Formats: sequence, C-alpha cells, structure tokens
Amino acid sequence: MQLLTRILIRQCAFAIFALLAISNTASAATAAKVQLYKLDCGRIEFQDMGFFSDTGEYDGHSGSVVDTCFLIRHPKGLLLWDTGLGDKIAEQKDGVNNNGIHMYVDTPLLQQLKTLNVTPADINFLAFSHFHFDHTGNANLFTHSTWIVNKTELAGALATPPTFGEDPSLISEQANVKKQMIDGDYDVFGDGSVKILKAPGHTPGHQVLELHLQHSGVVILAGDLYHTTANREERRVPPINTSRADTLASMDRIERIVKNTHARLIIQHEAKDVNALPKLPAFLD
Ligand SMILES: [Zn+2]
Repeated sequence: MQLLTRILIRQCAFAIFALLAISNTASAATAAKVQLYKLDCGRIEFQDMGFFSDTGEYDGHSGSVVDTCFLIRHPKGLLLWDTGLGDKIAEQKDGVNNNGIHMYVDTPLLQQLKTLNVTPADINFLAFSHFHFDHTGNANLFTHSTWIVNKTELAGALATPPTFGEDPSLISEQANVKKQMIDGDYDVFGDGSVKILKAPGHTPGHQVLELHLQHSGVVILAGDLYHTTANREERRVPPINTSRADTLASMDRIERIVKNTHARLIIQHEAKDVNALPKLPAFLD
C-alpha cells in the first residue's frame, strides 16, 4: 500500500473516532433532566420478621421497615412508582394492626404531592414494582393516569386465589383506567432515562426502576428485590417469594447492572437507604 493511502486511511479512522467521541459527549450532555422525589408511604412493624428470610436469620425477631413511594419528574411527564400502604391508614392515629403486622401512615401521600403542587390528575403514568398490598394502597386514587402494568403480575393478582400478599380490590380501577401492558423491560419515556426492568421472583411480575440522572448518575429503585441491607449482602430470599430460583436470578441480573453502570441501589423498605435521599420538596437529579 502506498504511503499516501495509508496516511489517508489513518486520518479517516481518526476523524471517525473523534466524531464518535463528540457525539457521546453530546448525548450525555443532552440527557433528559429527570428529578427523583422520595415520598413517605408509611412504615410497618413486625412481631416476627421471619418471613424476610427462608434460612432462619430473622426467626422470632421483631423489627420494622419503611414503605417508600417515588415521584419521577421527566420533561415529558410525571411517573409515580408504587403507591404505599394507603392514605386511609393515616386516619387511624395508632395505625392498623393485622396479625402482628402493625402499619402506620404518618403523612398521606396526597398531602405530600400537594406540597409539590401535584394532584392525582397530574400524574401521567403509574407503575408498580409489584402488587403487594404495601405498594398498591393508594393505586385507585390515580384514575386519570396511564397504568403501566406487567401482564404476569396482573394475572397473578386476579387469579383465584391471588398471588400471596396481593389484594385485587386495591387495584380494582385497573379495569377502568388507560393501561399500557408490558411483559418485560420497558422504556417509559422512550429516551432511556427511566426504564422498568424485569426482576421476577418476589412476585411473578416483580420489577425495578432504573433512572439515569444528570448529576447523580444511575439510580435503581429496587422494589422488594431486597427488604434490608443484610438481605442484599447475604442474598437472603423470603419464604413468601413466588420463586426462589427466579429471585436469585433477578438479584444476579440487577447486581450486574449496578456494577456495570456504577448505580446507587435504593432498597425501598430500608430506612438507611431512604433516609439518605433528599427530603421533600428537595429531589435528586
Ligand atoms: Zn413491600
């Protein structure tokens, strides 16, 4: 090959690499502005935490978890992720006790949304990590929103009997609202900044939410993939999960994504993770 041709090829290759580098920087700089607000959706005290691990570590021990919902503000709309224990419980000063499970809601979800000047009608999309009662308590308040619903999860909730821990009456408005049915990963706003990731095992259609924030990087709202930090560290599986094998496979998938994207994973029931997030009206971006 002649020297001139070789030089030309090298210069072309260099130009292509330079262009790729510029376009990568540009796409990072123009990534959608996404804001993450944490919402206090209650807390639960347990007489016996035994059903958080099928290998006995919690047997006979009492304990408590927080219940957290999240509002995601994207230039194309608002997404509410999970709806908590339900504002009805806030009417009971001493909470509601159900067979050793004591539930409290200190500040109604609607009141918290109001501090952000948001009404239920303003919520464009509603999505759930799963349909357990502590994630669907306020679902029926959001009849103007498009519900993004996992097909397998809905089938489980409507089955006879329903998936353990799921109460179809809490999501009864699903029959009337506009629905976007999904059966796997789903890019909510179409630009990769807010993605639902399939992570079954806790329930048949359990999923987590991956957010790409401009300043904070990748944040994963883990639903009930884990309930405590210790469960994450020890890969413990609750006996109430629908599939132990699927749970471990989902942990494996999500932890690989955490590693590859240097993500911050938020365990929605872990006070330590939730308390570290900005308090309303502040947000993470
Ligand atoms: Zn839960």
